Amino acid sequence: MNPKHLQPDVPECSLCADPAVVYQRNAGRHLCGAHFTADVELRVADTIRTRRMIIPQDRVAVALSGGKDSTALLLLLSQLLPAWQDVRLIAITIDEGIIGYREETIQSAERLTRHLGIEHHCISFTDLFGDSLDTVLKGRETQACSICGILRKKALVVGAQQAGATKLATGHNLDDEAQSVLMNVFRGDLPRLVRNSGAGSSGKFIPRIKPLSLISEKEIAMYLMLNDAWNELPECPYTHHALRREVRSMLSGFEYMHPGTMLHLMESKKKIERYCAGSLISAPLHACRECGDPCSGDLCQVCSLLRSLGK
Ligand code: SF4
Ligand code: ZN
Repeated sequence: MNPKHLQPDVPECSLCADPAVVYQRNAGRHLCGAHFTADVELRVADTIRTRRMIIPQDRVAVALSGGKDSTALLLLLSQLLPAWQDVRLIAITIDEGIIGYREETIQSAERLTRHLGIEHHCISFTDLFGDSLDTVLKGRETQACSICGILRKKALVVGAQQAGATKLATGHNLDDEAQSVLMNVFRGDLPRLVRNSGAGSSGKFIPRIKPLSLISEKEIAMYLMLNDAWNELPECPYTHHALRREVRSMLSGFEYMHPGTMLHLMESKKKIERYCAGSLISAPLHACRECGDPCSGDLCQVCSLLRSLGK
């Protein structure tokens, strides 16, 4: 019996007769689970191909926190892997040292890589910087996300270099990217908006790629549920980033009222990159005197942070 007779109120998939599980407001169509999954895989493959994110013989390090976005990213990339010539995936997990939060996500990352048969490296803040994030943040809790972000970015680069990676893939989704565009505009920080894209980065860095940048947070959640990979995990106790929280709620409201708002923001970012990147970013003139990374001053962001932390 056709399932739609059992569920008369459920709309039919626009591409087959199965019951729909999502309505894509932009495209104005309903999709069943199989067609939705195929659509997400196709769009990710298309983003990778049109932006030449992965090329033959790449060794792609996937930043795997164990949370929803990075889990979906690794699942999608491993799904697409057979179609690529001589490409290898490696997963890298950073253990910042956040008690009551990180342990569970690391276990989830270990389970996933074991299941997919993917090489997995774990790097801890304690090994790399001498202390856990919990210790570093004592008395500095309000700066948690900015300190964590700077150190995690460095830890990922070190992990990717140690693994011999040629690309570093992160699970940033459309919501994250659109929020970052607005936050940088609100702060008047256009150079950062362009820097985030990787434009103007030095050849010394492993290029960062964001294959999920056109897939929304809701679509990622749905993809995980449909593929039995949904996992309820604890929230980081330092989630105090007020501006991002406000921008997130504002943007969700706009997206609901005006579908396509987040994609339009990404289009605006692309145009800014195309027309203004050269005038917004000047090439770094110095090598950091501590670590040798390119920077505009004497010390790079990581080394000046470590110095201010007394490291
Ligand atoms: Fe780090 Fe902030 Fe994310 Fe917690 S919420 S893991 S402190 S960036
Ligand atoms: Zn440095």
